[in-house]
Amino acid sequence: MQLLIDRIKKDGIVIGDDILKVDSFINHQIDPNLADAIGAEFYRLFSDNKVDRVLTIEASGIAAAVMTAKYFNCPMVFAKKSRTVNQSESVYSAKSFSFTHKTENTVTVSKEYIHAGENVLIIDDFLANGCALRALRDIVLQAGANPVGAGIIIEKAFQPGGDQLRAEGMRIESLARIKFMSERSGVEFF
Ligand code: 5GP
Repeated sequence: MQLLIDRIKKDGIVIGDDILKVDSFINHQIDPNLADAIGAEFYRLFSDNKVDRVLTIEASGIAAAVMTAKYFNCPMVFAKKSRTVNQSESVYSAKSFSFTHKTENTVTVSKEYIHAGENVLIIDDFLANGCALRALRDIVLQAGANPVGAGIIIEKAFQPGGDQLRAEGMRIESLARIKFMSERSGVEFF
């Protein structure tokens, strides 16, 4: 998606050789026009599927996921990273190792918001080692629902998650695929 690639080139900041900071338009401040364009693109890519629900993980995936759900005219639900008291036992849960925080989270979704037989499209901001996507797919499967695929805003394709999950049969559509990046040379896309 050229609009996104141009924005990453202009405003993305590389930290070390494996973290891309996109705080000024995706991860902290959000550009609503870009989020809308991302939602429209995921709709175009996955419109060959019936999508009953869009699933993401808090917090960074929410803007793109809600825009995508608006185009599919379906609800968006986000997995929570910490269990709150009022969720009690009525949640699906999966463990996920956070790439950015280097901690293990338990992510949960209330059983009220994903149902058996539904087609669920997963959306996330980044794909690195694939832990977040695996946890979300796990939750969809626990619900007896069907993960139709994953829409990823930025795939760091030099990390193994994308190749591994595609080899396991998951359909993944990424709007920007990074081949290589470094603080010195910037970001190189496929
Ligand atoms: P994975 O679980 O695939 O290893 O990492 C994906 C998750 O980690 C995403 O949900 C995202 O929040 C975070 N993440 C991974 N790499 C980056 C990165 O380079 N920049 C930012 N901002 N977040 C990242």
